[in-house]
Amino acid sequence: MLTLRQLFLNNNAQTTHFPLLLEFDRAEGVYIYEESGKAYIDLISGIGVSNLGHSNPKVIQAVKDQVDKYMHLMVYGEYVQTPQVRFAEKLVSILPPSLNSVYFTNSGAEAVEGAIKLAKRYTGRPNVLAFEGSYHGSTHGALSIMGNEEFKQAYRPLLPGVGFMRLNNIDDLELIDNQTSCVILETVQGEAGIRVPDYDYMQALRKRCSETGTLLILDEIQAALGRTGKLFAFEHFDIVPDILLMAKALGGGMPVGAFVSSIDIMSSFKENPILGHITTFGGHPVCCAAGLAALEVLLNEKLIDEVAEKEAIIRSELQHPAIKEIRGKGLMLAVEFESFDTNKKIIDTCIQNGVITDWFLHCSNSMRLAPPLIIKKNELINACQVILSAITQHTEI
Ligand code: PLP
Repeated sequence: MLTLRQLFLNNNAQTTHFPLLLEFDRAEGVYIYEESGKAYIDLISGIGVSNLGHSNPKVIQAVKDQVDKYMHLMVYGEYVQTPQVRFAEKLVSILPPSLNSVYFTNSGAEAVEGAIKLAKRYTGRPNVLAFEGSYHGSTHGALSIMGNEEFKQAYRPLLPGVGFMRLNNIDDLELIDNQTSCVILETVQGEAGIRVPDYDYMQALRKRCSETGTLLILDEIQAALGRTGKLFAFEHFDIVPDILLMAKALGGGMPVGAFVSSIDIMSSFKENPILGHITTFGGHPVCCAAGLAALEVLLNEKLIDEVAEKEAIIRSELQHPAIKEIRGKGLMLAVEFESFDTNKKIIDTCIQNGVITDWFLHCSNSMRLAPPLIIKKNELINACQVILSAITQHTEI
């Protein structure tokens, strides 16, 4: 009989020659367990998803309650479905007043697609500007605005009218003109290896977009909902986007994304043609119920309050001459080493020793640290010790 691992390799589509092949049985809090009982501490939260850790009881209960009432009823936007309405109401209540219309999607990439379409439709302009190093997803539109040629060259032709700017480069803001429908930027760049824009740059970007009538789309699919130490990462820069993107942590472990804008902008989906964005499962009631429960836990348990302190613990614990830099904000951090080779060896040893981490799509010499926000300080310190001993083992410094 074939093992589960063999079946996985045979029947489940593979996208690399070297999948991690870890096999887990259950997950709770910050730990993921093998069937043998071996525990791994999750320092990447399934790539920015499990902000509340795994199996939060309130989220589980919300899922069970909703499953008992109804699951799919109708494509998005026709029926008044309580979980979608209540979740949107809650999100609007915690966002700035201009972000008061929520379109729920299946995923981050779908939120990106919807937002770009909305910007083109609202402004009537053809062009889109994105950033070097960006990652916005893997669908054709999202791939078109990816700031890494290596990952997209094989899929051309992609969207026309897309240009790229350099982060923190004021001169490049001149590229934004009256033909630019939108500028799309990760408020904190994730897969570029966690790059935090300068405050002044973000102010200037917002100003230039407003002056030229260009919509500013901030992709907070990784950064929103407390990960950077603020509820929304744009709060660090005292700006408000025209369209905000969320996904990942939004569903508390269930798949849901959203693009949020003003009622005025969002209304352009209603005519010429109608049905500007259609999705069957976007805003699935079970996912919205889970998302609302997760958001209430995040706010009621004040999980964001300790994020900055936890960042400081990581920065003070992880001191080693082989670490070139620790970049990021809150619990969205990158630890840079000399090379991918060194980073990979350290990561492999960490995983063997029960600490899960990885590297970034566009920055292979840096290690990702994005633990659940609920991680306790002593758990963080212990995990840092495991990382430090792996660094010592694999570097000569
Ligand atoms: N935008 C950012 C910043 C992301 O990090 C990701 C996924 O990693 C996406 C968009 C795409 O989200 P999804 O994988 O849900 O399509």
